[in-house]
Amino acid sequence: MQAAKSGRNFPLTEQTHFVFNPLLRNLKGLKEPMKPFVLTFLFVACLTACRQNEYADLNNTEWIHGSPDCTNNQDPPIQAVACGNDTWIFRQNKCIHYEAPFMFLFEGQERALLIDTGAPFGNRGFPLEEMVRSIIKEKDLIVAHTHTHGDHHGADSQFAGKPHTTVIGWSQEQVQTYFGLTSWPEQTTSVDLGNRTIEIIPIPGHDTASVAFYDPVSRWLLTGDSFYPGRLYVRDWDAFRRSIMRLSDFCLSHQVEYLLGNHIEMTMTFGKDYPTGTTFQPEEHPLPLRFEQLRILRDSLKLMDTPARKVFDEFIVEPVMEM
Ligand SMILES: [Zn+2]
Repeated sequence: MQAAKSGRNFPLTEQTHFVFNPLLRNLKGLKEPMKPFVLTFLFVACLTACRQNEYADLNNTEWIHGSPDCTNNQDPPIQAVACGNDTWIFRQNKCIHYEAPFMFLFEGQERALLIDTGAPFGNRGFPLEEMVRSIIKEKDLIVAHTHTHGDHHGADSQFAGKPHTTVIGWSQEQVQTYFGLTSWPEQTTSVDLGNRTIEIIPIPGHDTASVAFYDPVSRWLLTGDSFYPGRLYVRDWDAFRRSIMRLSDFCLSHQVEYLLGNHIEMTMTFGKDYPTGTTFQPEEHPLPLRFEQLRILRDSLKLMDTPARKVFDEFIVEPVMEM
């Protein structure tokens, strides 16, 4: 059975893909002094195009999704999609790292927040800091993380020590200290970007330091690796159940359009995921999930006192036994 797709279309957002990807592809061939000018032009063009729309229709966004043979992959190292008012989603090329995580950039009037920096990229090009700076220029930047796993802070070193940049450590202690979270995980907090306040909700279970981020401007709830169209690896079953309950309560008291995680591992066929470690995912499930899907998970977990694998239409719960 095929998962349903939304019918809305935003042609200008599509233009962003067509303009952006081939030009980024060709950046390798450009002489070094030209790159900043080309990048600047691209970002200005994309911002101008996308600001004429509301938000990108993420149900119809086609992401770069790797190749069967990565030696022939022509996609850019990072796909950038501009959404609405100063909001960006980046996806890492699957041929750089099979996890192909998503990263998110929210820009306020005074500062910007980058959530996650991708998976390790070895000696391959992965110009995340360059891309972010081309968008936000000299604005203060906070780099935060959804949790501690290595495929979420791969490019932290690009940001460490740079001007106008604060990189928050990814451990639970560092997250608690920076955001002043004294009562973990029940307490929530927020970070003010200037006319845009992002809420932070601790959701341990996949990882001890997992947090969700809510942006009231886009109405996106970023759920990291705790809830996304893929395999939800659960290391602390009881903590995960409580986190999903709290996240559901949060959705009921806030306007949430999309729940966005950091990966796609489900195909368009209900209950079917791609093989772990694949570098090619044609016909991916759309990135966004909605509260209806979280409610299905919440209601199931209420009845699951002990850890058990369970396949749902659009995600799979996978308990993990730590060694
Ligand atoms: Zn993870």
